[in-house]
Amino acid sequence: MRPEILFPLFAPVTSLKGVGPRVAPLLERLAGPIVRDVLFLKPHSLVRRTPAALSAATDGQVMTFEVVIENHQPARTKAQPLRMRVADPTGFMTLVFFGRFADQLEQRHPVGARRIISGKVEDRDFGRQMVHPDYMVAPEKRGEIPELEAIYPATEGLPARRVRTFALEALERAPEMSEWQDAAWAARERFPSWREALARLHNPETEADLSPSSPHYRRLAYDELLAQQLAMAQRKAERRKEPAARIAASDTAAKIRADLPFAFTGAQERALAEIRADLAAGERMSRLIQGDVGSGKTVVAMCAMADVAAGGGQSALMAPTEILARQHYETISGPLADHSVGVILLTGRDKGAARAEKLRALASGAVKVAVGTHALFQDDVAFHQLQLAVVDEQHRFGVAERQRLQAKGWATHFLAMSATPIPRTLELTLFGDLDVSRIDEKPPGRTPVATRAAPMTRIGEVEARLRDAVKGGAQAFWICPLVSESELIDLKAAETRAEELKATIGPSVGLVHGKMAPAAKDKVMAEFADGRLSVLVATTVVEVGVNVPNATIMVVEQAERFGLAQLHQLRGRVGRGRQESSCVLLYDPPLSETAQKRLDILRRTDDGFLIAETDLELRGGGDALGLKQSGFPDYVFADVLGPHRDLIAVAGDDARLIVGRDPELKTERGRALQVLQELFDWKAGLGLRDAG
Ligand code: ADP
Ligand code: MG
Repeated sequence: MRPEILFPLFAPVTSLKGVGPRVAPLLERLAGPIVRDVLFLKPHSLVRRTPAALSAATDGQVMTFEVVIENHQPARTKAQPLRMRVADPTGFMTLVFFGRFADQLEQRHPVGARRIISGKVEDRDFGRQMVHPDYMVAPEKRGEIPELEAIYPATEGLPARRVRTFALEALERAPEMSEWQDAAWAARERFPSWREALARLHNPETEADLSPSSPHYRRLAYDELLAQQLAMAQRKAERRKEPAARIAASDTAAKIRADLPFAFTGAQERALAEIRADLAAGERMSRLIQGDVGSGKTVVAMCAMADVAAGGGQSALMAPTEILARQHYETISGPLADHSVGVILLTGRDKGAARAEKLRALASGAVKVAVGTHALFQDDVAFHQLQLAVVDEQHRFGVAERQRLQAKGWATHFLAMSATPIPRTLELTLFGDLDVSRIDEKPPGRTPVATRAAPMTRIGEVEARLRDAVKGGAQAFWICPLVSESELIDLKAAETRAEELKATIGPSVGLVHGKMAPAAKDKVMAEFADGRLSVLVATTVVEVGVNVPNATIMVVEQAERFGLAQLHQLRGRVGRGRQESSCVLLYDPPLSETAQKRLDILRRTDDGFLIAETDLELRGGGDALGLKQSGFPDYVFADVLGPHRDLIAVAGDDARLIVGRDPELKTERGRALQVLQELFDWKAGLGLRDAG
């Protein structure tokens, strides 16, 4: 139930004065459907409306002048604007008005009248102009122009000034609320109250007031983070309360491990122990294993699946693509089957009688492990007793899909595996509701991939060496980035490169790109995996996790365009077998200093976590890690990649404390926190990010 105090903020934007049927859709597009969304708009700059001389007019600046109207140049056709030439003793400029009200404008602002005008100055070939001044008033009405004005985002048909009016009106509707922040913490950070913070946001007095680092802005960001962390902590606590099968460590798993030709790394041992502690507790597990490609996540998950099978239950292992599902199947089916654990592979390719047979085996419980793609979600797929769902590369799976899978069992234990290294500082924002195990140690005996950067001008040399290597039996990936606005142009670039390589290397060059039908893509990937192709040209989509042990060369074109984490993952495609591997990062010179540093890190280390952390350091704000695509929360105020990074851990601790002491949010602060949560709607919003 939404607290009554929030009703005015959850009213539709049409409840704001001046927002009618024409404006409402525009404002909704800009802000959102309710008053709260308008209240949460942020001004991006501040203008001071102090008159200046026309001689000081500067292109692109919002400026104010006192002028005399010298002439009118009426529109000759409907499509043409009305122009007015205005001047002061130091210069002149043209005002431009589009639209139907030309006659009225001519009457309101006759030739010879003195006016104060304020708006954005634009320099054009034919002279200096101002299109639709924000203000145009007689000198005696100067008071109508605010001295200082916050500038809001605008949209076609809805100028920034109107947006500001609506934001200020939304502010009027914002009630004083009981403090939900810990008093000592708020005092230490010099946080104003929530209402004061918003008032300051919408009435900035200095540039500093617009800064995300100012106390009032940090307060709003912290409110948002706390609301989110609290929702996550609650979800985690709730899930823990749900009973789930108790699963014990098994002899089967011990035997499987004894048969493996290697010993677990310490990190794998730790991850398995953490998973087993969860599985034995009788509460639902929600755990994420994070670790670089090849760090041994899948074999850890296999042991957990063996434990489940030994107890009579079933597991499902889901992969985002057919080829990955197949590879997982190949990795785990042998060791499991050797110890009488039945495994099937279920993908879109299974049809007819063969498929029916697999479904029967799953439904009867004869088969204990199903590896597959989306095909595992089909309505007619039923498990006898699904107890563990393992999802590879979790961000590729939609929440709905995960939930459908879970609906097939009761309180299924959930284990996600991700090879996207997330810096520790950001872990909570993405996975606050999961427990995280990190595999931050590589199996021994891997030779690091020799990595070097080279300018595009040396592509000829790279191609020549590639030709020699291919002659010697090597396989290579060649990655072309998506760089232009148009996918077609990028595709063309990749096609051209593939043709060129065919000319130098021969017919064993294949091409995959995002526009290909999945089946066609799988076919090319499979040919490469089988060794029928020696070079695979790809537009970024080298499926995450694809294992081609014989591939030893990775070439990335325009490497400077990729996120570091992405480059790291691409590089992870090679160096998986016994042979020495290499990675060439081709760049378009000149490199910026930051780009140079970024490529340097890759040459120095292959620790994915360190790389991700450094990338974040180097690039600061912005979507440094390409996280936006991986379900990264869409915060209104918090910039967790930039100035509010330090607040995440505090909010996480705060949330855990609150859930520990006041799980029902019944205390005075707890009740205030309920209002906070409603305000940000994280509970509903969390659905988008929910992994279990
Ligand atoms: P991930 O799932 O993290 O990509 P996998 O579990 O698929 O990694 O392991 C990658 C490869 O490394 C597999 O061939 C696996 O058998 C092997 N492997 C896993 N753990 C070890 C280890 N501790 N020592 C040596 N090889 C290992
Ligand atoms: Mg893997």
